[in-house]
Amino acid sequence: MKIAMLARNPNLYSHKRLKEAAEERGHELTIINTTRCYINIASRRPEIWYDGEKLPTYDAVIPRIGASVTFYGMAVVRQFEMMGVYCLNESVAIGRSRDKLRSMQLMARDGIGLPVTTFAYDSKQTAEVVKLAGGAPLVIKLLEGTQGVGVILADTDRSAKSIIEAFRGANINIMAQEFIKEAGGSDIRAFVVGGKVVATMMRQGEEGEFRSNLHRGGSAKLLRISPEERSTAIRAARAVGLNVCGVDMLRSNHGPVVMEVNSSPGLEGIETATGKDVAGTIIDYIEKNAKPGRSKTKGRG
Ligand code: ADP
Repeated sequence: MKIAMLARNPNLYSHKRLKEAAEERGHELTIINTTRCYINIASRRPEIWYDGEKLPTYDAVIPRIGASVTFYGMAVVRQFEMMGVYCLNESVAIGRSRDKLRSMQLMARDGIGLPVTTFAYDSKQTAEVVKLAGGAPLVIKLLEGTQGVGVILADTDRSAKSIIEAFRGANINIMAQEFIKEAGGSDIRAFVVGGKVVATMMRQGEEGEFRSNLHRGGSAKLLRISPEERSTAIRAARAVGLNVCGVDMLRSNHGPVVMEVNSSPGLEGIETATGKDVAGTIIDYIEKNAKPGRSKTKGRG
């Protein structure tokens, strides 16, 4: 197969591993810098151009769209979809996962365990929003933050209120969330490929840090998850509509709760912690599912 991977940095561990796994299986994988693509939305013959040349027809596309280029990246993935190219994750699903509020609404509809989460536009409602989320301690999150940046723990109602008011005053969207203290600064990452959990790890934050992100100094270790955690991860992936994703969950007193579904999950932490060939599993999934030139997206618009 001829596979294109939309990514900006070819030297990232995840991108190198996907290329390696594709080539080991006899495929050709070209890394295309998402932001250097330009698109021609011509009637009936959509095209994508790159460095002065029209891109050839690919059998499959692996979108690895960075959070900072979500808007344009989704347009490029959408253009491939319009051309009938199989995209490992669809643009609509990537968009859902990038908006924490939207993905939580979708998961709530499907009855998936979530931390109590509240949101308001008007800062006059702040006191109510804090109360509705169960009061302090509360976690305040930027709707479009990643890697733990923009996740704040407010210890008192008063600090929760002033943090919310400060962000809303600057017109930044945030949500207030029940703090799952019993998770003890650790979370579970379940890596889902094609509706199956293929690898799991536990991430533990640095001493004194409630955020377990590896980018924030957290460490990862192998973990066996419960059947309930497994089914929660699979249902979360399905609710957001992602074929490949990392589902982040916390172990709460009321069972597993999903914090986030990540549409470009990193491979380094999970492959190192589990010793599994996750990149290979992803390429195997593409082999089974890509129908060159005949792909129709499931999500609309
Ligand atoms: P990001 O998308 O920026 O990684 P997350 O929502 O995943 O943001 O939060 C980052 C980390 O903060 C999580 O991995 C978890 O360890 C911790 N965390 C987030 N929300 C909660 C919560 N409601 N209760 C306890 N810890 C949390």
